[in-house]
Amino acid sequence: MTEEERRMLDTAPDESMVCKVCHRALAFIKAKDGSESWEHFAQDALVGHKPVPVNAKTGKLLGRCDFCNTDLETEIWFLPVSEFLAGIDPRTGRMQAYKDDWAACPDCAPLIDANQWSALARRTQSVWEAAHAVPAPQDRITGWRQLQRLVRRNISGSLYRVE
Ligand SMILES: [Zn+2]
Ligand SMILES: [Zn+2]
Repeated sequence: MTEEERRMLDTAPDESMVCKVCHRALAFIKAKDGSESWEHFAQDALVGHKPVPVNAKTGKLLGRCDFCNTDLETEIWFLPVSEFLAGIDPRTGRMQAYKDDWAACPDCAPLIDANQWSALARRTQSVWEAAHAVPAPQDRITGWRQLQRLVRRNISGSLYRVE
């Protein structure tokens, strides 16, 4: 076992997570930059939706809305979006690929459904500002708008709800 693998095991959480959508077990991933996430295992990676982590024992959701970043509760929507490439990730220097469907909370879903993308961008901004208690920096606002514009251009189906 390498030093890195040992560190990874040390920090892996004790609880196990399953995906609310496909009910498969999820893998705990710790990236080099320290960010942590739950992902589908390789054999389930082509399922076409983002993993929605739920604690296997308590059923508690850990997912977030891909549009405004609030925690997902029981009501989860998905927007089918074709894979696309966005700007360069400043941390890795690589182009960022977005695949799988986009998760949306009950507040963002109606805005997407009604094609109200300006209102959606304003909501993303106000949720961020409420969480950080400062006005959102202009480069972030521009980034959200660009990303949501790319999402909009690559929509491949209608919004659907996951029970
Ligand atoms: Zn899944
Ligand atoms: Zn949302």
